[in-house]
Amino acid sequence: MTDVAVLGGGIGGLTAAHELAERGLDVTVFEANDRFGGKARSMPIADESAALHGEHGFRFFPAFYRHVVETMERIPTDGGTVADNLVETEATLIASTTAPERIAETSTPDSLRGWLEALRPAFAEDLPRDDVRFLLERLLYLLTACEQRREAELDDISWWEFIDAENRSAEFRDRLAYATQALVALRPQVGSARTVGTIYLQLLFGQLDPSEPTERILNAPTNEAWIDPWVRHLETLGVEFRANTPARGLAFDGRRITGVELADGRTVAADEFVLAVPVEVAPAFVTPELRRAAPALGRIEHLETAWMNGIQFYLSEDVELTRGHQVYADAPWALTSISQRQFWTDYDLERRGPDDVAGVLSVIASDWETPGIVHGKPARECTREEIAEEIWAQLKTHLNAVDQRLRDDMLVDWFLDPSIIETENGVENRSPLLINTVGSLRNRPPADVGVRNLTLASDYVRTNSDLASMESANEAGRRAANAVLDRRGGRGRAQIWDLREPAVFEPLKRQDRLRYRLGLPHPAAVTQSLRGVTRRLGERV
Ligand SMILES: Cc1cc2nc3c(=O)[nH]c(=O)nc-3n(C[C@H](O)[C@H](O)[C@H](O)COP(=O)(O)OP(=O)(O)OC[C@H]3O[C@@H](n4cnc5c(N)ncnc54)[C@H](O)[C@@H]3O)c2cc1C
Repeated sequence: MTDVAVLGGGIGGLTAAHELAERGLDVTVFEANDRFGGKARSMPIADESAALHGEHGFRFFPAFYRHVVETMERIPTDGGTVADNLVETEATLIASTTAPERIAETSTPDSLRGWLEALRPAFAEDLPRDDVRFLLERLLYLLTACEQRREAELDDISWWEFIDAENRSAEFRDRLAYATQALVALRPQVGSARTVGTIYLQLLFGQLDPSEPTERILNAPTNEAWIDPWVRHLETLGVEFRANTPARGLAFDGRRITGVELADGRTVAADEFVLAVPVEVAPAFVTPELRRAAPALGRIEHLETAWMNGIQFYLSEDVELTRGHQVYADAPWALTSISQRQFWTDYDLERRGPDDVAGVLSVIASDWETPGIVHGKPARECTREEIAEEIWAQLKTHLNAVDQRLRDDMLVDWFLDPSIIETENGVENRSPLLINTVGSLRNRPPADVGVRNLTLASDYVRTNSDLASMESANEAGRRAANAVLDRRGGRGRAQIWDLREPAVFEPLKRQDRLRYRLGLPHPAAVTQSLRGVTRRLGERV
């Protein structure tokens, strides 16, 4: 018996546990895996204490993240907090097999030239003037549309349609359609204009805001830098952790949850239950009775996932590339990477095995459907070995155009996400990632679904950023904790922040709110270049 049973120890579950334990509740976290952190976890690549770590994929923290960073500021380390382990990136390398490499600065501009460079991706000279004008109109539309309009109109069309990508120049498509896909799992053709547009603006503001680093990453593998200190801190607050303890189902008496059934057959009673398992697992917990009591739970199964998984190449030389991300523009498997050693200053590579490792190139593949260049098959149809060979080959075609930055003799070992399991027909992914799709907002449940003692705390819950991310998972955990606290009374509530947009647009948003209530279109919907798009949308409806 515990006050609160949290099912799932990823970012969402740990956040809910943190907020509740700080306010004096007894919390027990039941986790299926042997380690906590969920998709954000890192893990030793061999069964020895001094092994190197592998990750499901590298992590980045853009400037607009507030919830997850504030939680990190509340996790103590020797002489500081876990948030001190975040380090700023400086530049993104855009490598191509057909064009010269480009470097996009990610540090906040400190000179006029720097500002011009920062704005270049959106307004560069090689974009046709018509495209630039159109883009400005679209961004202004978004910035001045009230939240109700964004939700009602812009969640039902794709970003691709909204920016009329089909009828624009190839440069425009590269900069605006694919820009968000490279860094966050937002696909321009399927992601909604509301979400992709909002996040695009957040990333843009983040780059221009001198008060915040544009993007940060951790100075060691995630568990070393963040998750392990977090678990230790929660233990000091009295949280009990049960690793290797999957939950199987919830017992519901028509009004409240009466217990959680564990996979080993035991049943655990609690006053409150926080379901913090991923989106593809949650529907198994929703019985027909629960679905009747809380229809929002039944809609979770309509949310969609895609494959996005990482591999680490351990190298005998440190290949630094840029101090930030690398984006491989023509890689059929949509690759991005980070060369970790320059950031992992708090992690002694030399003292860990295999002995001759001097660098770690961590790569994420976001397209598992397009055939590769070595085996001619999509990643889904390859063996694990073939996946590693193929990704390595795609990296080389991009990075070795000018000089031999990656050589086969450098490759000491690799570690592919263990969620990728070999089957007879290729691989299966046991840990897919939620993706934003057109119209998906209505299927995202709130943390408080309306069952007396059940809340949800995972990245698919409706949050301000609506993006499958550690930020959303953290916000969801806070919302779940607040729902529990509202029911039980007691001290304080976890803080929730809105996304910040420049205050200068507020009066226009207010005006649009009024127009929306009166059933009038947004003023920009009648401007010249938008007519084509709105007409096509009208025809489709
Ligand atoms: C390759 C990749 C890179 C990413 N990079 C970033 C990034 O740079 N920045 C960012 O913000 N986000 C990133 N994300 C997204 C982010 O990792 C996730 O959105 C976030 O970690 C989800 O947290 P969660 O708690 O909702 O779910 P999860 O991390 O999925 O945690 C759920 C937990 O529940 C456990 N569980 C499952 N079934 C059961 C069961 N039956 N009983 C008990 N426990 C169970 C799981 O083992 C897991 O620990 C990335 C995702 C991927 C896939």
